[in-house]
Amino acid sequence: HPRMNTDDATADLQALHQRYRGLREGRVAGYIPELAKADPEAFAIAMVGVDGRVVQVGDSEARFTLQSMSKPLAYGLALQQLGREAVHRKVGVEPTGEAFNSIVELEEEVHRPYNPMINSGAITIAALLHEAAPGQAATRLMHMVQAYLGRPVTADEPTLRSELATGHRNRAIAHLLHHYGVIGPDIQAVLQLYSLQCSLQVGTLDLALVAATLAHRGVQPLTGRQVLAPALVRDMLSLMFTCGMYDTAGEWAYTVGLPAKSGVSGGILAVVPGRMGLAVYSPRLDAHGHSVRGMAVLKALAAQWRLSLFGTG
Ligand code: GLN
Repeated sequence: HPRMNTDDATADLQALHQRYRGLREGRVAGYIPELAKADPEAFAIAMVGVDGRVVQVGDSEARFTLQSMSKPLAYGLALQQLGREAVHRKVGVEPTGEAFNSIVELEEEVHRPYNPMINSGAITIAALLHEAAPGQAATRLMHMVQAYLGRPVTADEPTLRSELATGHRNRAIAHLLHHYGVIGPDIQAVLQLYSLQCSLQVGTLDLALVAATLAHRGVQPLTGRQVLAPALVRDMLSLMFTCGMYDTAGEWAYTVGLPAKSGVSGGILAVVPGRMGLAVYSPRLDAHGHSVRGMAVLKALAAQWRLSLFGTG
């Protein structure tokens, strides 16, 4: 890979921001009232190198909630606290080809969520964290997220209330999981924890810091702190690669070729192992719940900087 200086990287990101700011396809998520209030024009791109180099363009001050981008982080915490075997007795490692909030796979012969990146799997992870440490799981999760960000983090209270009040699908998933014996009876506490992780307030740079920490084998590039053991980071990246983009994970792997995770707030983070973390925020979503501009920027950047894990071809 040619070594790129910060000025070149900044110019490239600025050019992409310019190229895609006129892209107005998609819709801001409306199924949670609080998400619908996001500014549809907000648009930011951030890059953090494993050497700690930071590049930001666009609306760097925009704040939004972590949503499904919390799923790999909660999964990593569960691996750390319970071990790989205990976690994967309850949750699989297969992509679904279904939407993020699908329940169909729970009705199959083996009643086990396919993977931790979809809601059924993430709610199961939340249950494992809650059951391992009732009353302390939220604090542990917040500490884990703070270690990636290198700063304190808080929940956006209106979003948290909004998620809990309107999350009927997630409630249904949790009850089905309990019905099939995958999770225990403490459904309210589990949904509270899952909603909390979705409601944590972040900016685009924070997403890039998460991605850069994963790119750096678990070492946060600015604080130098080892957030998570490299073996667990490997597990997280494997599942982000195959399952992080839900029912478009295959196309994403084909066109971008990087582990990634999106959230319905409009963020996408992508990991270039050994090199950098990338993040885009723009709230208009496609039909699969991915940021339209985020997809466009990361596809273009992956091609331009030759980022695919499998080389340039
Ligand atoms: N809070 C959202 C939900 O569970 C998170 C989904 C997402 O970002 N895809 O519905």
